[in-house]
Amino acid sequence: MKIDKMLKRYRIDEGKHFRLKDHDPGDTHGLKSAAKPQAQELLTKGVEELARLQDILAAQDRWALLLVFQAMDAAGKDGTIKHVMSGVNPQGVQVTSFKAPSSEEQDHDFLWRTMKHFPERGDIGIFNRSYYEEVLVVRVHPELLQKEKLPPSLVTKHIWRDRFEDINALERYLTRNGIAILKFFLHVSKKEQKRRFLERLDRPDKNWKFSTADVGERRRWDDYQDAYEDMIRHTSSKEAPWYVVPADNKWFTRLVVAAAIVDALKGLKLAYPKIDGKQKTELAVARKQLLEE
Ligand code: ATP
Ligand code: MG
Repeated sequence: MKIDKMLKRYRIDEGKHFRLKDHDPGDTHGLKSAAKPQAQELLTKGVEELARLQDILAAQDRWALLLVFQAMDAAGKDGTIKHVMSGVNPQGVQVTSFKAPSSEEQDHDFLWRTMKHFPERGDIGIFNRSYYEEVLVVRVHPELLQKEKLPPSLVTKHIWRDRFEDINALERYLTRNGIAILKFFLHVSKKEQKRRFLERLDRPDKNWKFSTADVGERRRWDDYQDAYEDMIRHTSSKEAPWYVVPADNKWFTRLVVAAAIVDALKGLKLAYPKIDGKQKTELAVARKQLLEE
């Protein structure tokens, strides 16, 4: 299977003509569910490759990688993060889950709470939801915008355009500072979400995952889809592309996400730090001392 071709299909790095309805949540790039074992093998390989690259990322200590995950409820964010990152060194990864803002956070500009969670050099940062909620849930629920205490004259019909611009500027700033960004929209269908909700209700070991609020958000399905589409149109770029990942088949979602991360890390042309002549001499001295003990 040509991984490059597969990734290209789901990567949006220029959003002007993006339409969500051109993307099928059930798509598996022609792989039948009979190919699941092979996909599993590919995922295992991807996870190993990710671990190898992460080691170099940390050793080199120059680049950082930020992974943003956005999706409707039950699209599989948590499971994808768990599986794809299963092989990496936990010391080099920080996961941040963004929930509804606190009153302290509402007293600040909308990007304020994000700032301290960007990954440091050598690390991978994962955002389970993100500042993108500010053009998604906040757009679908105007009452949330009111709670943000903005001066009324700044809340105009252009506010979403303004926010897209601010987000683009932030992402350009980060990439110029060596923080590479990948964004994943796990694209689940309304039908599959219903199936997963029912499973959460029917299985005692899954009950805890169900929140009654999720059904309320589901009623706003079309508003969310519109908000996602507009977001992807306005915030896709070469430096910080969106991947619209089909999410009706978990095995396929994980494969695409792992492959995209490996691809991005490879693109950074990572290398272990080179040791100069003086350091080589120091190592030789240390070796000699140890042997002479
Ligand atoms: P799970 O899949 O386990 O349900 P989750 O990501 O949905 O995980 P929850 O605690 O259920 O986690 O939900 C977090 C909620 O916080 C979401 O409904 C999300 O829309 C909301 N949220 C996140 N960021 C913001 C924000 N900036 N403003 C308002 N609401 C936000
Ligand atoms: Mg939830």
